Amino acid sequence: MQRGGVYHPLIMETTNPTRCRACLLRDAFSAEEYEKTVLRMWESLSPDVRADETLYEARLARCTACAHLQGGTCMQCGCLVEIRAMRTDSRCPLPEGRW
Ligand code: SF4
Repeated sequence: MQRGGVYHPLIMETTNPTRCRACLLRDAFSAEEYEKTVLRMWESLSPDVRADETLYEARLARCTACAHLQGGTCMQCGCLVEIRAMRTDSRCPLPEGRW
């Protein structure tokens, strides 16, 4: 599904087999879309519960290397990984917990 000239992973396109497996929202969204979604959520979290940038990026690196990531969504839990990874108390849903 195209929106604004870029692939939009939040809109499920079951007939499109070319969804980016390892992409995050930051790879697919325009700067404006990313600001309205991920960055605003990041800024709205209290520093008490928000993962620091080092932890956040380490988590996202694990997700982008994971076969369960599809267009920014974890297919194990249905969460947008860039949102899930923001909180210090969030965990990867796999039994072995990749982060
Ligand atoms: S949260 Fe865990 S299972 Fe989901 S994409 Fe990330 S590493 Fe994979």
